[in-house]
This record gives sequence, C-alpha cells and structure tokens, in this order.
Amino acid sequence: MKRLLLIRGAELALFALLATVPLLVANAYALALLTLLAIYGILLIGLDVTVGYLGQINLGHVAFLGLGAYAAGIGVTRFGLGMPSALAAATAVGLVLGSLLALPALRLEGPQFALATLSFTALSFTFLNEMEGLTGGAQGLSLTRPPLFGHDLSPQGFYWLCTVLLACVWMIMRNLLSSQWGRAIEALRDSPIATDAMGVGVYRHKVAAFALGSALGGLAGGLYAFNFQYLQPQSFVYDLMVILLMGVVLGGRKSLWGAFVGASIVVLLPNLLSNRLIFQAVSGLGLLMALVSGIRGLLRKTTRPFQALAPIVSMGLLVGGGLLVANTEDWRKGIFALMLFSVVVGLPEGLMGFAARFLVRLFRVAPAPLPAPSSLDEVLPSRPADGSTLLELIDLKRHFGGVKAVDGLSMTVRSGQIHGLIGPNGSGKSTVVNVISGLYPPSSGRMLLRGKPLPLGSLYRAARSGVARTFQNLQLFSELTAIENVLVALNGVYRSPLPLVLLGMARAEERHARADALALLELMGLKDQARTKAKDLTYGAQRFLEIARALARRPDLLILDEPAAGLAHPDVLQLIETIRRVHQRGISIILIEHHMDVVSELCTVVTVLDGGRVIAEGSPEDVKRHPKVVEAYLGQTDRDREAAAPDAPPLPA
Ligand code: ADP
Ligand code: MG
Repeated sequence: MKRLLLIRGAELALFALLATVPLLVANAYALALLTLLAIYGILLIGLDVTVGYLGQINLGHVAFLGLGAYAAGIGVTRFGLGMPSALAAATAVGLVLGSLLALPALRLEGPQFALATLSFTALSFTFLNEMEGLTGGAQGLSLTRPPLFGHDLSPQGFYWLCTVLLACVWMIMRNLLSSQWGRAIEALRDSPIATDAMGVGVYRHKVAAFALGSALGGLAGGLYAFNFQYLQPQSFVYDLMVILLMGVVLGGRKSLWGAFVGASIVVLLPNLLSNRLIFQAVSGLGLLMALVSGIRGLLRKTTRPFQALAPIVSMGLLVGGGLLVANTEDWRKGIFALMLFSVVVGLPEGLMGFAARFLVRLFRVAPAPLPAPSSLDEVLPSRPADGSTLLELIDLKRHFGGVKAVDGLSMTVRSGQIHGLIGPNGSGKSTVVNVISGLYPPSSGRMLLRGKPLPLGSLYRAARSGVARTFQNLQLFSELTAIENVLVALNGVYRSPLPLVLLGMARAEERHARADALALLELMGLKDQARTKAKDLTYGAQRFLEIARALARRPDLLILDEPAAGLAHPDVLQLIETIRRVHQRGISIILIEHHMDVVSELCTVVTVLDGGRVIAEGSPEDVKRHPKVVEAYLGQTDRDREAAAPDAPPLPA
C-alpha cells in the first residue's frame, strides 16, 4: 500500500507540478522549454520500448519524429486537417511505417538491426529533402497551429495539451509494460527460444513493440510540428538521434521516469550549460565531493580504487576542460560526451535506476506483496490417465549434414506415463526433443499428438498444441524474477481485451495469475525465491524454475531434458519427488536422463537410443540387462574416461 501510494503519489505530484508551472512563472522562454520537455518525454518513452525493453539499438526513432512532424504539417497545410486528426495522422504514419520497417529489420539482431534502422533514417531524410512538391525540401515547411475544437490555443494552452498527452501516454504505457505483454517483450530479449517454446510468439511481439514505439515517435512528431511551426529535413538526422539515445541511456532504460529524466537532460542541460560560471562552480563542488567520498571510501575499504577514482577523474576533466575549452559549443558537446561516458561506466542502470535504488532504501519501500498461492488443484487439475496413445513418432529422422543425430526413430508415448528416454552422450536424445518441440523440423518421418500431426519446425505452434519442455542448457529469462518467468508461460489466465489492459482494468486477472504462478513455484520448492531474478538463483533452483515454467503451460506432454544434470544429491532426491507429484496430476512426461537410477525410480517404460536409433525398449529392469544397452553404456564409460566430453552442443541463439 505504502509502495503504491509513493509511486502513484510521485507520478501525480510530477504532473500536478508540470501543470501548475506556467501559472507560477510567466516566462515565454521557460514555457517553450517545458513544452519541448513534454514532447521529448513522449518521444523517449517510445524509444525506450525498443532500446530498453527489446534491448535493440534503434537508430530510426528520429526518422519517425520527422515523418510524424511532416505528416501533421502536410495534413494541416495541404488537407486542412484540424489538430486532432493531424495528430492522429502523425501517429498512424509512425505506426504503419514502424510496422513495415520492423517486419524485415527485426529478423536481424544487434549491429545489423542498428544498421537497418540507420539506413531508414538516411532514406527518410532523402525522401523529405527530395519530395519538394510535398515537403518544401530544404526550404522547409511553414505551418500555423490549427485550432483545437474551434479554440485557438495560446502557448500555454498548447503546453497543457502536450502535458495531458504525456500523462495519457505515461499511464497507458505503464499499464501495458507491466502486463503480460510487457513481460513477453522482456522475456524475448533474454531468450527468444524459450519465449517461443512457452507459446509466446517472439516475432509478433517484437514487431508490435517496435510499431508501438514508432507510433509514439510519430505522435511526438506531430506535436513538434505544432510547437515550432516550421520544419526542415535536416532537423531529423544523426545529431538529434544520438542525443535521443543518450537521453534514454542517461535517464535509465526500462523506466518511464527514466525516459522523463532523459528528456529533461536533453532539453534543459544545454540551457543550463550556457552559464559557464555557474557550471564551473557546480563542477568544482562536484570534484570536491568526489574527492572526499572517494578518499573516505578507500580508507574505510567500502569502495574499490576504480570506483573511487572514476568520479574524481570525470569531475576533474569537467573542471579542467571548462578552463581550457574556449568555444562554448565545443564545451557543451564535450560535457555531454563526458556525462554519457561516466553514466555508462559508473551507473549502468542510468540516473533513474540509481535514484530508484536510493529512494527505495530512503523510504524503506517493501516490494509489492504476493498473493496467497492458488490451490494446486485449481492450477493443475488432475486429469484421468487412460493409457491411450498420446504421442507417436514414426520413422523420425533428423540429419545435420552428415551427422545422423536421429536416424529412423519410432516410439509411442502413452497418456499418463513417465516415459524414459536414455542413451549415451550424443545418441540423439536432445535432438528428439528439439524436433518434437519444433526447434528443428525433422528431415523425414511423422509425429502425431493424440492422432493429429504435430506442427513441424515451430516452437511456438508446438507449444500451443500442448507440448512443454525444459532445456538441457538452461534457457531462463535471466533478468526476470522467478515468478515473472512462470507468468510469461502461464496459459489460460489472460483473457482481458487490450483496451481494458491499457486502462489498467485487468488487475484482478493479474492477481489471479500471480497466485497461480506462486502455486507452481511452491510445488517446486521455490516459493521463497519468487522475487529473485532468475540469474541470481542457484543452479539447482534454476533447473526447478524451468520445470515450473513449463508446467505453467498446463501441457498435455511435458518433456524434461536431463533435469538432474549437475544437481547435488539432495536436489536429485527432491527432483524425483517433484516429478512424481507432477505425474500424479495426470501429466504425461518424457524424461531424458543420464542417470539410470533416476530412470529406474520413476519410469514405467524406457526407450534406449544409440546413434539415433532405438536399441532397446521395455521396463527399466529389462533394458538394464539388455546386452546392447550394457555394451552402449560400457562403451560410454570408456569414452568418458578418455575425454570428459561436453554434454551437448549449445543451442543456437
Ligand atoms: P544427446 O542429447 O543424446 O547427448 P544430441 O541430440 O545432443 O545427443 O546430439 C546427437 C548428435 O547430433 C551429436 O553428434 C551432436 O553433435 C549432433 N547435433 C545435435 N545438434 C546439432 C546441431 N544443431 N548441429 C549439428 N549437429 C548437431
Ligand atoms: Mg542432450
């Protein structure tokens, strides 16, 4: 409660302050800066969707600002649009062009994506410059701000309009990003493979996120046009693009407040810097503070030398540079660069990330309370296990070049069974899982789930048809907490239509989902770590979390790929117990295991692979005595002794 009051209270206070400033200070220049601040706030919230949440370097945002601005400008001058329809047109241009750019570009990753968006910026500049008939080319485009519903807006009125729009965008984005949708785009940043395997389409979420960010860029562009009432193509190129990116990184990624702080820096700092005397005094004071706190930290051994030295050096450079550089413009750029460098090195979470941690401690804010877990009967209702055929693999093959990883495998999994799949390293077990779950299409052969063909080569569609899996090489959403990892996969809870989610009216559903996720964590013995980030869990806990996440799909068939690999003995015992409990609820399981004892303990039927083929099948007791199995496993122990071979090739990213 206190947490909610503080956070919402701070938001209310911010907007109340923004709304009343023009009443308190009647200064045209200050009003112009504040208007720009609101516009850039919207712009940076949009940019943060790709840079922060998707984790991609987006160099195309400035183009959407420009295209939105021109769309509004041309709409007003050529087509006589009013303000609302011109702003809608600007947003639509961002949305449509954003989707079109996203479709091809988001198949790319990292530097290639950055280059694709960079070329989009170059192209849109050329377009605006060359289409003189429409845009006025390099001459620029002048427009007058149209009235809003018949009222001519004063500068003050226009500022309020921008602030109201910023508040709306803020609220909508807050609701959206904290919903299932926002978690999905964070999940896909950490592991696209697992996101698809949990039945959450990676590509559609990426495209939608990029289009949404671009739409906000377009909206900001429309406001930009009405603010300056004069547009030139060269305003929307590299300089501004770099400044915008810097704003997001400085302010703090993945945070609305961060975007706002970033916008304030971008808008206000150049003006603050114009008074060099004041700035020199401030940076001198900063140097003094860095010196004092650095030396104190070193003496008390609470900071490492690098941590103490970095702020001293950067403040020293500020003071020294200020004395040396005469040209004010150069000086400003230098300070921006230096600030960016120090924040990237010293505060990787940005100013807001740093401030948030500080404020949480100052106000002793407790994390949001978790609901009581749902009952397990509700989350995983028991199903009858009738022993009917669940999964049929018929002459399945998967070759990698010359490697026949799976080479004509036929096997039948019956409903309600724990079906063991064993075999020496490299015998093709993981490849079977990868083919069933759709990571790879089979080279040939058929797969039927309850008599219906399984989708081939699509993790997403295989997951949707009832298959859930874990990964031999863990694929968790490492930056998300344990409970969020489970929530991403949770199936059949989220039903509210998008408009309700945007308005924040899907809270009951979210509470219900959390209770369900918590029940699954409890089943895995992870309830107390619900709020720990996946990457901070112990290795054993991470393995259990993958199972909890797969169970959240409420699957017909659960495939566990070496769940005991690397576990300590007590954890193996707990694992056996947990798998048994999951099985008791009627979930059919394929268990891939290296340890014969785990298999004997749990499985009713075991299929043994060697060289991608079945060499034996039957009860654990029978296959253990089978001569071919004995031979395969003895060979394996020899091989293991020769070289501690790595377990399996890493999955392609
Ligand atoms: P297991 O899980 O039984 O240890 P795998 O299914 O991981 O075995 O591997 C079976 C064989 O297929 C190995 O020889 C392995 O090198 C090969 N293999 C598996 N995945 C790939 C891949 N993506 N590309 C090439 N070879 C692969
Ligand atoms: Mg394997």
